[in-house]
Amino acid sequence: MTTINENFLKLQKNYLFADIAQKVADYKQAYPDARLIRLGIGDVTRPLPPAVISALHKAVDEMGQAETFRGYGPEHGYEFLRRAIVEGDFAPRGISIDPDEIFINDGAKSDTGNFGDILGTDNSICVTDPIYPVYIDSNVMGGRAGDIKSGAWSRVTYCPCTAENNFVPELPQGNTDIIYLCYPNNPTGTTLTRAELKKWVDYALSHESLILFDAAYEAYITRPEIPHSIYEIEGARRCAVEFHSYSKTAGFTGLRCGYTVVPKDLKVTLRNGEEVALNPLWNRRQCTKFNGTAYIVQRAAEAIYTPEGREQVREVIDYYMTNARIMRETLAEVGFLAYGGIDAPYIWLRTPEGEGSWAFFERLLHEINVVSTPGVGFGPAGEGFIRLTAFGTRQDCEEAMTRLRRHFA
Ligand code: PLP
Repeated sequence: MTTINENFLKLQKNYLFADIAQKVADYKQAYPDARLIRLGIGDVTRPLPPAVISALHKAVDEMGQAETFRGYGPEHGYEFLRRAIVEGDFAPRGISIDPDEIFINDGAKSDTGNFGDILGTDNSICVTDPIYPVYIDSNVMGGRAGDIKSGAWSRVTYCPCTAENNFVPELPQGNTDIIYLCYPNNPTGTTLTRAELKKWVDYALSHESLILFDAAYEAYITRPEIPHSIYEIEGARRCAVEFHSYSKTAGFTGLRCGYTVVPKDLKVTLRNGEEVALNPLWNRRQCTKFNGTAYIVQRAAEAIYTPEGREQVREVIDYYMTNARIMRETLAEVGFLAYGGIDAPYIWLRTPEGEGSWAFFERLLHEINVVSTPGVGFGPAGEGFIRLTAFGTRQDCEEAMTRLRRHFA
């Protein structure tokens, strides 16, 4: 008799964005002429930069010639890309990362979700709240989350990020084994300074915890005091894995590429006192379950690190961050309390007094035809907020703000 992984049955009925899509589809069906503006899901709208497109064309041509054709690639990813990453993302910040510590992935979602494969099911989990739902759901699937009671999982420690603590989470009380941090943060759009991040690294080192640090939005950081990588903090190589993504940096949401850093000095102590390094363990997992990211996609990612590529990516990021500024200014003018949008493409908007996240989501949908994301979908502390993204077109962003101003001013 076949059995299933019954942990999957514990998952909440629907994925947040599926719930939103359903509500939007129902609205569209009832009001087919409504012009909806989608500031909800975090997908990008700008096309791929020209440097990426020409690298793709070139790589496609190589695949059509016997002399340059490539089959299965190296398990860590191609060295040309891993070297470009070391030289482009880490060396300029004084961070020493070896190309063998980098694993090219098909996006940060897969690796943040899959990393649990090499970690015991008895680990306790800690997340900042609100948070990107994949961290929790993948631990529910892996049997680490416990049971859900009033919207919170019993074996997960939640560190609330609220306006009251300026979205800087307190360290957990007591021990916790695996800590998920995402900075710049999705959904709040806020960041941690070096001093704040250092507290987490120190905690992890003293409690022998592992930090899974999601740096998917690091390219959006504008303020110099904000760290781009957890490895800017002394000791982080001994306690942290870091995930990167080209999705939001360079429009790769459809192309799929990113990378994961697993330092060689990162070790876990077994009950018998023996130390096990995570780098070879993750390599073993990848060799068995992942056959790499397409050659042409890795060539496309390499192009981001060329001078033209960098300049073009910067233009795209500036475009989105101009949207973020327009949104922040309009929201402030109308009298809303909004956070984020300075070092991240997300705006975290306080709902009007007494109005819950889903109620305000519905109101924006019905009254001004703007689609947002209810904050409570990212965790209990997200109640009373909605998330807006800056990834829309300028025209949509401006139109949404005009509607907002007209309706709420
Ligand atoms: N991590 C965070 C915090 C995200 O918000 C997202 C996407 O929205 C991802 C990872 C997934 O990125 P990718 O497209 O690289 O899988």
